[in-house]
Amino acid sequence: MEKICVAVRVRPSISEEISSGSYWRVDDNRISLHKIHGTPISGISYAFDHVFDESCSNAKVYELLTKDIIHAAVDGFNGTAFAYGQTSSGKTFTMNGSSTDPGIIHRAVNDIFQKIQTISDREFLIRVSYMEIYNEEINDLFTVENQKLQIHESLERGIFVAGLREEIVNNAEQVMNLLQSGEVNRHFGETNMNARSSRSHTIFRMVIESKGKDASSSGDYSSSDAIRVSVLNLVDLAGSERIAKTGAGGVRLKEGKYINKSLMVLGNVINKLSDGAKQRAHIPYRDSKLTRILQPALGGNAKTSIICTVAPEEVHVEETKGTLLFASRAK
Ligand code: ADP
Ligand code: MG
Repeated sequence: MEKICVAVRVRPSISEEISSGSYWRVDDNRISLHKIHGTPISGISYAFDHVFDESCSNAKVYELLTKDIIHAAVDGFNGTAFAYGQTSSGKTFTMNGSSTDPGIIHRAVNDIFQKIQTISDREFLIRVSYMEIYNEEINDLFTVENQKLQIHESLERGIFVAGLREEIVNNAEQVMNLLQSGEVNRHFGETNMNARSSRSHTIFRMVIESKGKDASSSGDYSSSDAIRVSVLNLVDLAGSERIAKTGAGGVRLKEGKYINKSLMVLGNVINKLSDGAKQRAHIPYRDSKLTRILQPALGGNAKTSIICTVAPEEVHVEETKGTLLFASRAK
């Protein structure tokens, strides 16, 4: 069982927010609660594989947290990278990035195409898909008409989303264009916390298939020539905030219940996976669509990393503690 890599990233303070300035201090791979300019608040301090402070770039996050997963995916290992955190904490910034500092998805896509160029003895076929899970319904972000898709399982294909559009891609630019068109289809809702907060989980998936070049002509499959298929998921999770804080009612309340349930299931799954001693324990993948879809790329010899994003301001201290608790359970 591969160890799950867990990191925390503190975003810079957003100036319009009341009482800006960080309540958290980062020392190496440790994050602790401090009053601004004041003394540490004892007992609230956590260590992770990495803790990134406000000044950290997406380039560095990619380098330390996801690059290995991406490279392993090219070599045939499944992998998943998540961004977890409350709305406005920096999940989408981490996954999608900005024009000056591209996010993990962009970097991963570039890296994969660069890496396969250097492997001259194998032929690659890369397919991408992009979906969201909104109120436990799976929607295709490449094709708006593809709504409420079902999860199926077969001997041949394993677990798959029936009807999901998969595009064969040949270069990074093609992928970025596809993603941009898919972005428009994401569900956004208004909450008190953030004018455009994301209420859905989005999964960007790359399937990397390769075979040895000699194998196709001679039919002689030695181990290095065998066909390899790996699945890589890059996941921007829905906001983890508790429903009460967002002043939710009606539709928002329904969304909140689904979001909290699937994040809870994800927490349970990851907690069981990282609890190495009890390898044989039942892992509740089937309790949510999110974990069911990700099942083949979680656990076993799949590589997994979680980046938990947190907001530094005082108003967010309780939510930040909740996120750090989630992160601690994943270790
Ligand atoms: P989320 O997806 O978790 O709701 P966002 O990624 O949309 O949060 O971030 C909220 C705001 O903070 C955005 O305006 C984003 O550009 C900014 N932001 C988040 N993280 C960073 C960061 N590390 N550096 C600079 N700006 C950031
Ligand atoms: Mg977002």
